[in-house]
Amino acid sequence: MLVRTSLAAEGQGPELDGLLARLREEIRKGNSDSGTWHELQDRIDRKVSALDERKADADKRLAATFEKLLSELRGQRAFLPVRDKLKDLDKRLRKPATLQHGLNEWFIDFAGTLQAGLAAAGAQSPGDSRRGFLGKLFGKSPGVDASAVESQTITRTEFDADQVSEAEHLELAAPVSEENDQRLRIARRVGELLGQMLDQVVLEPASEARARRLQESLLASDDWGELREGLSGVAELVIAAVTRSQREFEAFLRRLDERLDTLKKYFAEQENAQAGRLGASAELDLEISQELDAFGQKVESSQDFRGLKASVSGHLSSIREAVGRFRAKESEREKYLSEQLGAMQEKMAAMEAQAEHVKDELRQQRQRAMTDVLTQLPNREAWQERLETEYQRWRRYGNPLSLAVLDIDLFKRVNDSYGHKAGDRVLQLVAKALRDRLRQTDFIARFGGEEFVVLFPETSAENAKVVLDGLRAHIRELPFHFRGDPVSVTFSAGVAGFEPDDDADAAFDRADRSLYQAKDSGRDIVCIGGKTDQ
Ligand code: GH3
Ligand code: MG
Ligand code: MG
Repeated sequence: MLVRTSLAAEGQGPELDGLLARLREEIRKGNSDSGTWHELQDRIDRKVSALDERKADADKRLAATFEKLLSELRGQRAFLPVRDKLKDLDKRLRKPATLQHGLNEWFIDFAGTLQAGLAAAGAQSPGDSRRGFLGKLFGKSPGVDASAVESQTITRTEFDADQVSEAEHLELAAPVSEENDQRLRIARRVGELLGQMLDQVVLEPASEARARRLQESLLASDDWGELREGLSGVAELVIAAVTRSQREFEAFLRRLDERLDTLKKYFAEQENAQAGRLGASAELDLEISQELDAFGQKVESSQDFRGLKASVSGHLSSIREAVGRFRAKESEREKYLSEQLGAMQEKMAAMEAQAEHVKDELRQQRQRAMTDVLTQLPNREAWQERLETEYQRWRRYGNPLSLAVLDIDLFKRVNDSYGHKAGDRVLQLVAKALRDRLRQTDFIARFGGEEFVVLFPETSAENAKVVLDGLRAHIRELPFHFRGDPVSVTFSAGVAGFEPDDDADAAFDRADRSLYQAKDSGRDIVCIGGKTDQ
């Protein structure tokens, strides 16, 4: 919306246009730095009020210039026939309303009066020869009376520069006379005024060049034919400038109208889209609608383009103010919400961090609770949990599952011969060796003392026995040395496969029985089945 409003406001001056372009750029970038916005707003405010002042100043100077010209013209005998018209123009010029809204109309009337005055001057000059000359010069018959001339309303459609073309082939030198002096003075004065006008009006380059040429000839030429043509050209130029600005202004109004319409639609959509903003948005929409309606009526009813321009500015400021209020409310609401959101996010982050910390702690505690301190293998608690999981999986999928119980042979002797610490060390090394050689999916735990238990998922008892025999051979070969003596450490094991109707303990009991069998059979052996009758 701001982008569109700024586009509508363009064309007041290059510096303001630059600031508006920057405004649009910042919006598009999504700049949320309030410092930048304050600075931009300050600069735009200053530029706008400078423009206002300059415009008021230019109006004043324009009025003063023309007042002076009118009084000079009224002092000229040649303009006696249009004296009333000049008086009226003077009166109208002193009314502020003319400057604000009616300057274009005024220019047209002024140009007409100037033309009529000059024509009348030609027609009414005393002296037969001069009357003939001037009559010829202006293309008017000598009998044209002042009122007839005065009643000629020169409009931009009726005005025709060709009406003076006849003068072009008259190369008679202007007679030196009082009246001729007067005409020259008038021409000079009009030339000066034209220069002042050119400083205040923006013309197309071609018109500008033409106006400058006219001005030069009005200021320098003594050839009355040329001067007369110049004066007519001024009138034409004024009308052209007015016509052009009217056309431009109409185009401007059309563009503006489209933009305001888009703006209105935008706010209507906003209102529908954002239920939460309903109140503020509806209020704004109403304000803008009223402004647009008022503006529409003004466009319909007014012929006064200067007035319309002022009216558009007024409506735009109203809309700008309404938008400003809306934005202020919005940003307050947004600020409040984002503060709340910020506080909530902080709380959430703190809570998450704390939860994560607690979870971590619990994980560690649980890990500790499930781990045997001496061997760092899972302990009996962990074993029970894992046994339950694997048992349930076995029940559900029916894939083979085996279990083994291992016991180090004659461990008491190690303790007795080399001390408890040596025994501990043996336990640690055997535990590590077992774990390192088992598959990732197998699960080993220290069941207690010098006993270990192993779960073999997806493995039959026979295959588990093969694995255990491999382990047994490996452990036996471990190079233990106690006080310089090589000592061999062995284990015995009983292994059992889970069988239909088994509960989690049944297989364990069978494996345990097999272990005893192994011990009975002389140790360093793996027994399978564990049936009591075996
Ligand atoms: P068997 O071949 O029949 O199993 O003979 P064994 O000596 O290994 O069996 P027994 O049950 O008679 O002795 C087990 C010994 O293991 C008793 C105990 O001192 C020792 N032991 C149990 N836990 C630990 C421990 O954590 N550290 C040490 N160093 N020794 C332990
Ligand atoms: Mg034992
Ligand atoms: Mg033992």
